[in-house]
Amino acid sequence: AEASLGHSVIPIVNKLQDIFAQLGSQSTIELPQVAVVGSQSSGKSSVLEALVGRDFLPRGSDICTRRPLVLQLLQTKRNPDGTDEEWGEFLHLPGKRFFDFNEIRWEIQAETEREAGGNKGVSDKQIRLKIFSSNVLDITLVDLPGITKVPVGDQPSDIEARIRTMIMSYIKLPSCLILAVTPANSDLANSDALQIAGNADPDGYRTIGVITKLDIMDRGTDARNFLLGKVIPLRLGYVGIVNRNQEDIMMNRSIKDALVAEEKFFRSRPVYSDLADRCGVPQLAKKLNQILVQHIKKLLPGLKSRISAGLVSVAKEHASYGEITESKAGMGALLLNILSKYSEAFSSMIEGKNEEMSTS
Ligand code: GDP
Ligand code: MG
Repeated sequence: AEASLGHSVIPIVNKLQDIFAQLGSQSTIELPQVAVVGSQSSGKSSVLEALVGRDFLPRGSDICTRRPLVLQLLQTKRNPDGTDEEWGEFLHLPGKRFFDFNEIRWEIQAETEREAGGNKGVSDKQIRLKIFSSNVLDITLVDLPGITKVPVGDQPSDIEARIRTMIMSYIKLPSCLILAVTPANSDLANSDALQIAGNADPDGYRTIGVITKLDIMDRGTDARNFLLGKVIPLRLGYVGIVNRNQEDIMMNRSIKDALVAEEKFFRSRPVYSDLADRCGVPQLAKKLNQILVQHIKKLLPGLKSRISAGLVSVAKEHASYGEITESKAGMGALLLNILSKYSEAFSSMIEGKNEEMSTS
């Protein structure tokens, strides 16, 4: 899907992984985790689903996400005939492949209840799900319970503190990108998401602001000042989103239809017409892609020096064994060359000169 996370990064990462595989190198590109934070029902699970482009997460007006869901996307090769299979596998059900994404949602619900009970209880024990698809890049997304203030059901009296500690344990990692989700129909200055993200990432180098529910703002108001960073500035900026409402979810409206509706929403509102680069799920995916590319660019010098070191040892081997290793050393030099070429291409991509990088 056009909007999905990884759309433009997939070819680059694949190329680099291929280079390392050919070199027999252990070096791989490790992408950061992406976690969503915010108050309950702010739209966190909806945002993650929209980025993945598939329906499979429990969503709703009540507390739905009650355990951390660690969602590992893993890229598979397409079948030789061009067909493609996507499936999910849970750590707690080894070997069982879920081809039906509705069943994945049911299993997340069932497994949530097994650990956290049926009455709104929350647990910090992870659910780990792998999604295998040829349309994703290898990245880990974390869906987290939302911040709540008043204990309900079986929740303990210190529920807020417990959830905050759980969230912090994920987003304090320097390698974690934070999607700080705030609904547009609440005040940004009261945002739990921005508050907790600010504690974990005070300089704002890894926090993206996500404003959901632009469609249900109070009449006569709009999210311009939020999106422009005039209310609370954020280094990496904000993206405004319109996800599906509860009725859409109950009517089984598809993600694809929702994206079309979102685009129509922004197109029909002149207040957002000059903010097109800050509006919509595709823009959020694009922003994440740019950050991932930047991350890869930062890793490149280290990867290059590891390859160079590899070449030196191959050359030494060459000296002691004669001709045998020549082709290997030659191949290494060639690959190093390709890698340098790629790192230049990354720079121009980040500056936006060369959006669709060639993969040849
Ligand atoms: P979470 O608790 O933060 O994970 O939030 P969910 O993704 O479960 O969404 C909570 C509720 O808000 C659901 O009923 C969604 O349909 C609804 N919702 C989420 N995003 C939007 C949005 O952009 N617009 C509208 N109208 N409803 C939304
Ligand atoms: Mg949720």
